[in-house]
Amino acid sequence: MKEELQKKLREAFPQLTLDLEINERRIVTVRGECGSWDELVDVGHFLAKQKEVKNVVSRMTVRGLAIPEKDYAPLAEKGRKKGVIRKADVVIVGAGVTGCGIARELAKYDLDIVVCEMSDDVCTGASKANNGNIHPGMAVKPGTLKARLNVEGNRLFQKWADELHFALDWCGCLGVVTDEKLMPAVEAVYQVALMNGVYKPEIVSPERALELEPGLAKRNLDIKGGAYFPSFGQVETYEVVLALAENAAQNRTTFLLNTTVADVLHENGTVRGVLTDRGIIEARYVINCAGVYADEISAMAGDACYTIHPRKGTLAVLDKHCRPEFNGVVMIIDGNQIQNKKNAESKGGGMGRTNEWQMLLGPSATEVPDKEDNTTTPEDLAYTMAINTNPNAGVADIIRIFCGVRPSDFSEDFVIEMSPVTHGFINVGAIQSPGLASAPAIAKMVEEILLKDAGSVPLRASYDPVLPPKTNFRHMSHEEQDALIRKDPRYGRIICRCEQITEGEILDAIHSRIVPTSVDAIKRRTRAGMGRCQGGFCQPKVLEILARELGKDPTEICLKDGDSRILLKENRRGTLNPQPEKGDGPV
Ligand SMILES: Cc1cc2nc3c(=O)[nH]c(=O)nc-3n(C[C@H](O)[C@H](O)[C@H](O)COP(=O)(O)OP(=O)(O)OC[C@H]3O[C@@H](n4cnc5c(N)ncnc54)[C@H](O)[C@@H]3O)c2cc1C
Repeated sequence: MKEELQKKLREAFPQLTLDLEINERRIVTVRGECGSWDELVDVGHFLAKQKEVKNVVSRMTVRGLAIPEKDYAPLAEKGRKKGVIRKADVVIVGAGVTGCGIARELAKYDLDIVVCEMSDDVCTGASKANNGNIHPGMAVKPGTLKARLNVEGNRLFQKWADELHFALDWCGCLGVVTDEKLMPAVEAVYQVALMNGVYKPEIVSPERALELEPGLAKRNLDIKGGAYFPSFGQVETYEVVLALAENAAQNRTTFLLNTTVADVLHENGTVRGVLTDRGIIEARYVINCAGVYADEISAMAGDACYTIHPRKGTLAVLDKHCRPEFNGVVMIIDGNQIQNKKNAESKGGGMGRTNEWQMLLGPSATEVPDKEDNTTTPEDLAYTMAINTNPNAGVADIIRIFCGVRPSDFSEDFVIEMSPVTHGFINVGAIQSPGLASAPAIAKMVEEILLKDAGSVPLRASYDPVLPPKTNFRHMSHEEQDALIRKDPRYGRIICRCEQITEGEILDAIHSRIVPTSVDAIKRRTRAGMGRCQGGFCQPKVLEILARELGKDPTEICLKDGDSRILLKENRRGTLNPQPEKGDGPV
């Protein structure tokens, strides 16, 4: 089998000298030098597409390119010195939507669960920087795990929203074509939807398209037909993750933030726990939800069975004043869009909107060697603007451009299994799009894997799946606002003018179970700083409130993770200087 595969590889890439090994689990490990990063990714995809291959581990290098690597050794050394700091039943690595979803699902059992997150907050990886689409499941390959979990996850999302009180808008997704020749492509998507068991997909006539989205009439298009998916939903992704984490914590899950897992401890084929930079946590189960680093965590457990090749996606958010033209997501497809599709492995994105009615353009899909490449480039900006067809919106209306990195593997499917190599280690890796939409089903699948292994686990008597709703001042009637302010005048102090966020709401966030310590963490919980001025007015006030409530000096408050201090030092009594001076650290 190896020789045959090697031959196919030589024929496909005659310019390269590559070596491969294949094991009994049909995992291929490939070594050698490629000419570019894109070529390396092509090799990985080529191998993963062969029927005899389950997944691909890349040990390839790229001529003239230093592929960034995380150095766990100093963190491991620091943690080893501290020894055992905690014993638990389950350790979850990573507090994105996958890790928090699983933590919340398992919290209904009488288990001691610890979530380790290397960042200063939950929801800082791909889960923070995505479109918030609850995809119906028509864009995923039938027969894949992704397809099954996407459709199941979509069905389960309403229950999450009901119990956790986050906004979920089933706004629907309509694709229309203006060229008769594209109708077979529409039919093909419809057939995929039927195969995957998507909820009530519909082939639509031009009249039905206009009935569903009256805004199309203004465009004067010669619509030939299209397809409609009513089970397309929209959430604010950070609202979901924070609610999951809060509810898990409410049910006794421990969140250890600023805690990096630097090694997975295992002995005689059984997991024993994790070594973090803060010490050892012993556990019977370790669940790997580490996003772009999941392949590295899996290798630490002695189970190198996939490689993550990061795929960056850039998104632009527009000012609320250029109101989206459509109720849901509308894709107007002509021949050009199909030809211009940048990445065959990702559906990429188009023109959508957030639940706050801000237009959202993107994402792009670019293969990058750096797992932490969060840079945005002029090309990314051009890409997002090229998607825009709303005549009321232009480049000056962009209030934020940001990117996230998808944790894709070469099989382009999710990897969810109890490790056949290290018992007790559960991989939940390669959770790229539609990882958000699939999250409730992923959590259920991991619950099943764990219960199958552990046998019966008693339920937690005090378990409460309901998270009390948050105060949302801007969505209240004047009467409700008035009553609230009379009860607590801090709800009458507007801190973020653009989004109408009050001091009371910021205080609620600070005194919640997962304590926010940075300005961005407050933004994710309250929307303060998400409006037109992007924190220009409210950032100093938020900083002041954070410092006051956390008992810290204002110079200690960071914008986000890492050393991202906003103020450097006091230059006059009572006045802090936000301008860096020569030799000062980063701002
Ligand atoms: C631009 C873009 C748009 C997308 N749009 C959609 C969409 O509309 N709908 C959809 O369904 N999906 C979408 N996705 C995919 C979705 O965002 C991901 O599938 C999902 O967020 C993955 O969640 P996660 O929890 O697995 O990973 P992450 O959110 O990345 O979380 C992993 C966490 O692990 C932590 N971690 C890593 N290593 C360690 C360590 N050693 N120790 C401790 N902690 C560690 C990280 O800090 C991180 O917080 C999109 C993705 C991108 C990038």
